[in-house]
Amino acid sequence: MKHNAYIPKSNVHSHSTFSDGRNTPEEMIRAALALGFHTLGFSDHGHADYDDCSMSLAQEADYRAEIRRLREKYAEQIDVPLGYEHDWLSPANVDGYDYYIESVHYVRADGCCWSVDWTRQKLEDAMARHYGGDPYALCRDYFRTVCESIEGTGADILGHIELIMKFNEKRDLFDDSDPRYLESALACAELAARSGRLIEINTGAIARGYRTQPYPGEAMLRRIRECGGRVLLSSDCHDSGAIDCAFAGALELARACGFKTAWEFRGVTPVEYKL
Ligand SMILES: [Zn+2]
Ligand SMILES: [Zn+2]
Repeated sequence: MKHNAYIPKSNVHSHSTFSDGRNTPEEMIRAALALGFHTLGFSDHGHADYDDCSMSLAQEADYRAEIRRLREKYAEQIDVPLGYEHDWLSPANVDGYDYYIESVHYVRADGCCWSVDWTRQKLEDAMARHYGGDPYALCRDYFRTVCESIEGTGADILGHIELIMKFNEKRDLFDDSDPRYLESALACAELAARSGRLIEINTGAIARGYRTQPYPGEAMLRRIRECGGRVLLSSDCHDSGAIDCAFAGALELARACGFKTAWEFRGVTPVEYKL
């Protein structure tokens, strides 16, 4: 059934040239205005010394100043909350931010960090090097880290909790319907739901050409819904053309998984809307 329902004009997971985005914050705001958005929050990558895409601490100070300047400049037209995306394995510096997103992009194994989402080759290398070629052992370790982040975080939002599927839409790295995968994925979905935090339905990999569907996928989303979890659409945009990327499809997926409502930010306040 086709819905002509409400599509939120809000996104608080956005990257700019301060981290790994292609456009300046002002270019992003102008694009959001052209879409009729009421809220565009910024969430560039907070400092992590193992991550070249993240801001240095000095850049973070410049970033906060610039987003605050733009918030004032565009105050009549759009709300611009100031957030950042924290990587779980780095120290959290939350001072001066309106909100933040907790994300796992790296997993620790054998005394070093491997990247979940940098390239497919790096993921395959990690599988061979740290997990004896067993993708399900890698997935278990990934979800164990996500669960640890959910239990330890003070963030408002849980970012892309099934990022491990970024390079696996064709199911040629592992089978996400295999019980060896589902056991840890669904336990993670349940923990996320029961945490009460907002859980992203993240379309970021679609704009960047890695996927046609958002994550988390159907199995995790159904479990989140069964456990009373709250979901939020995020485009995780890295350029001004992707601010509302695939929102309509993400809403269809949420409905198909039984959600009756979802959440959006209006300024710094999360607000519930009907699906
Ligand atoms: Zn991320
Ligand atoms: Zn992001």
